[in-house]
Formats: sequence, structure tokens, C-alpha cells
Amino acid sequence: MKLSSGPRICIARYRNRAAVLEMERKDNMGKLNGKVAIVTGASKGIGAGIAKQLAAEGATVVVNYASSKQGADNVVKEITSKGGKAVALQADIAKQADIERLFAETKKQFGKLDILVNNAGIYEFAPIEGITSEHFHKQFDLNVLGLVLASKEAAKYFDGEGGSIVNISSVVSTLAPPSAAVYSATKGAVDTLTKSLAKELGPRKIRVNAINPGLVLTEGVQSGGFDQGDFRKEIESSTPLGRIGKVEDIAPAAVFFASNDSSWITGETLVIAGGR
Ligand code: NAP
Repeated sequence: MKLSSGPRICIARYRNRAAVLEMERKDNMGKLNGKVAIVTGASKGIGAGIAKQLAAEGATVVVNYASSKQGADNVVKEITSKGGKAVALQADIAKQADIERLFAETKKQFGKLDILVNNAGIYEFAPIEGITSEHFHKQFDLNVLGLVLASKEAAKYFDGEGGSIVNISSVVSTLAPPSAAVYSATKGAVDTLTKSLAKELGPRKIRVNAINPGLVLTEGVQSGGFDQGDFRKEIESSTPLGRIGKVEDIAPAAVFFASNDSSWITGETLVIAGGR
């Protein structure tokens, strides 16, 4: 039987509409739909950028902060205004009790955990004469001990499906610039922890990777004056791509390590530093 042109047009329209709906469905499916993530130190800087990018891919994000409640609330507002899910939770990552409370509260609110981004960190440069126990502990207690204890909690809360831990290290772990011995050593420790924990936790389907950024323009970098003068010029001139980084240069790599796109990658350190 031959169809008249009326029904044929209707069928074609129906098929087009179905194709459009399928495309829309795929567009709405982020790489991290249904996942729950904690990003430590996400009230500003690299952590805030990563929190927004994970949420844009569909993850529910816990935006951790130490003291900048306003900053964390702003990040949450930006995420939720775009239809994403996020909450701000205070916890000092240099304190074990705070870390335990952060993970317990996340489990209570969202019932599970899939992704941990260990981003909270501080950087203080000092020549050897300026190194004190305080300078050492301030950086090691947060950048290293905090990262280890947060990873321990994450391993406890990830379910049988495993999980992904993304550590924010730095190029200084291998470049080891002068007058930055303690900070560089914290990041050297982060690289080693990444490799060791990846081996230990792999059988539990927990992947552990690190991102090692070069100089990235953030609130912390600005307040330390690292984006100014000769320091910046020297970095720009020794960077093949000729500029310092933006938060947006780093965040997509966190999505990659958090998602199934990297499901057979663990124990890696990815330098993102314009070729340095
Ligand atoms: P930032 O702008 O100074 O932001 C630091 C974030 O960490 C803030 O959200 C801050 O929250 C939080 N934080 C600080 N102490 C904390 C604590 N005890 N507990 C919980 N959160 C804490 O720093 P950034 O430049 O984005 O650096 C973020 C990470 O990237 C660090 O691990 C850093 O070592 C690494 N990194 C940075 C660069 C760079 O050039 N920016 C390069 C390589 C690696 P509050 O404001 O609430 O304190």
C-alpha cells in the first residue's frame, strides 16, 4: 500500500523529534551522573574550579572549606543555579576529627561516596634560614597528613564499586625550586603516596592519581604575590606555551581521573604546566 504524503511527513517528523530527544538525553548525561564527590579546599582557586566542573558533569559535590564560608557558599550557589547539586561543609583538613566529621556528614546526607579530590593545600616559600617547625608542620600537616587521613576515610566510605582519589600535587615535586624545600617535599610525598596507595587500593577498585599543575592564577597565588614581577616573568619565559595556567586548564583533568574515561589508569602523575 502506498502512503500518501501526509503520513510520510508525520513519520519523518516523528523520527526527527526522536533523534532530537535522544541527542538531548545524551547531552544531559554527564560523565559523573549519580556520583558523589568531596573536593577539599573548594571555596576558591583550583578546588572551586574542580568542584564546578565535577558538578557540571552531574556529580553531587561537597564543597569543603576551612574558614571561607562565603566563598564556599558562592561556589554552591553557582553550581545550583545551573541545576547542579552541591553543599558546603566546613572541616579543617589538618585536623583528624574534622576530616572524620566531613566524611560521616557526606555519607549521612548523600548515602555514599565515589570521588575524593585532595586539593586543600598551602604553599609557603622560605630559604633554609627561614625554615621552622611551624613552617614545616603547617604545610606537612595539611598537604600530606591531611591528604593521607582523607584518603583513609574515603577508602572506608567507597562501596564495592570502588572509587577515585585525585590528589592535587605540583610541578615542584620534581622541579624542586630553591627556597621552597618544605613545600616541594610535601608534593614529593604526595606523588609517592599516589603511587603506593594506587598499588594498595587497586584490588579494591579504588584508583589513585595525581595532577601536578605549574603556576596557576588563583586567590592563593595572588595573595602570595606569585603572579607578579620577576617570579612570573621567569616562569612564563621558561614555559614552552608562554603563559601561566588558569583554573580551567586543570579542572578537566580532575573530571578525567574521576570518571570512567580513566578506568584503567591508576598511580599516575599528570603534569599540567604548559610544557615545563
Ligand atoms: P588557594 O587559592 O589558596 O585556595 C586554597 C583552598 O584550600 C581554599 O579553598 C582554602 O579554604 C582551602 N584550605 C586551606 N587550608 C585548609 C584547611 N586546613 N582545611 C581545608 N581547606 C583548606 O589555593 P590554590 O592555589 O587553588 O591551590 C590549591 C591546591 O593546588 C594546593 O594543594 C596547592 O598546593 C596546589 N597547587 C597550586 C598551584 C598554583 O599555582 N595555584 C600550583 C600547583 C599546585 P579556606 O579559604 O576556607 O581556608
